Amino acid sequence: MIAGPNVHGTSYRGRLAPSPTGLLHIGHACTFWTAYRRAVEHGGTLIFRNEDLDPQRSKPEFARAMMEDLEWLGIRWQEGPDVGGPFAPYEQSRRRESYLAAWRKLRDGGFIYPCNCSRKDLALSAAAPNESDDGPLYPGRCREKAVEASQHEAPAGVNWRFRVPNGEMAAFDDLRQGPQHFIAGKDFGDFVIWRRDDVPAYQLAVVADDAAMAITEVVRGADLLKSTARQLLLLRALGLPAPAYYHCDLLRDEAGLRLAKRHDALSLRRLRQQGHAPQQILNRCTQQ
Ligand code: GLU
Repeated sequence: MIAGPNVHGTSYRGRLAPSPTGLLHIGHACTFWTAYRRAVEHGGTLIFRNEDLDPQRSKPEFARAMMEDLEWLGIRWQEGPDVGGPFAPYEQSRRRESYLAAWRKLRDGGFIYPCNCSRKDLALSAAAPNESDDGPLYPGRCREKAVEASQHEAPAGVNWRFRVPNGEMAAFDDLRQGPQHFIAGKDFGDFVIWRRDDVPAYQLAVVADDAAMAITEVVRGADLLKSTARQLLLLRALGLPAPAYYHCDLLRDEAGLRLAKRHDALSLRRLRQQGHAPQQILNRCTQQ
């Protein structure tokens, strides 16, 4: 069993880590406000990390809008991209070397394997019973490719998957949602850490960055609880300490659906244009 979180014993460091793939909505406002409040309450540092790795979906105009909207809400951070300035220390698209170092470490440790299953192969196996929110479990067709893995000098060209320890429980005490446990191989399967199109996957980048930026507490939406279980396994494989986790409750629309960046009507931009004040928006956040 793997357990988290570890306590760093150093002063509080939190992060705001949005992806610039659309406009932030009221749900993001609540989560980021909570991250900001917790950093302030702990007398800590809050960093801003622009998670702009996906070249197809990330847009600089969304990154600018995110920062402006958060500043308008009253959220401030101490480290991160300087709006309008040329130097942006925390932009994932500039941190490839650090992700490559993590990829090499995982390859050398035998934790990952190259997978050339096509989308069609995966779709055919999708009838498996474990279909969940984040897709079907990977059936593990390529997981024995250990020798082939060691022959790759660079990750490009295939998907790289993390070989999860089947049957092992990943458990952690979430500071908001309470005790959590997920079983590797049942709740989630071998997940992609580097994409065929040579883009590091979210799970790898976030783990490498949270460690490099000495984050002590991760505040984010409860939709990422299962990802935390994956990330704890990755952190252990990389020999990195785990932060504490605080997963905020998710806001839902009138139909009970989780808010997404496509909910344009509830974007901070739109609400702001309609004349709402920051406090009116924050009043709509449930107790987080
Ligand atoms: N960038 C991710 C998102 O916008 C969140 C990453 C995280 O907080 O770990 O959904």
